[in-house]
Amino acid sequence: MIQRPRLALIAHDEKKNDLVAFAEAHAAYLTGCDLVATGTTGQRILDACPGLTLRRMKSGPLGGDQQIGALIAEGKVDALIFFVDPLTPMPHDVDVKALMRLAIVYDIPMALNLATAEVLLRDHENG
Ligand code: PGA
Repeated sequence: MIQRPRLALIAHDEKKNDLVAFAEAHAAYLTGCDLVATGTTGQRILDACPGLTLRRMKSGPLGGDQQIGALIAEGKVDALIFFVDPLTPMPHDVDVKALMRLAIVYDIPMALNLATAEVLLRDHENG
């Protein structure tokens, strides 16, 4: 049996519009995935794409990034799409770093910007 891809979606505030647009553009593919997202990101995606279902964790600054990191450590996430804002200081910078570190430790694909996310989904969508 082919398992549904399990994707984690996160965007910092300045990048949320980009991730919402990305989700809308790829909604047909994402419908076939098991999605998890941080709180605010997840709500924005659900508002824009009512056909999608996703599991919303806590907001990033309140522990959502760490929750998704824990899912990665448990082998429950196949790929991470995280639109990072490199121009704004974050109160939860250490959480963001820890999340990226776990994606590296567990060697899952990690797209940190739109261009990489497009390549990642192109690969997935084609097969
Ligand atoms: P948010 O968290 O989706 O709840 O805004 C994302 C983050 O800033 O890590």
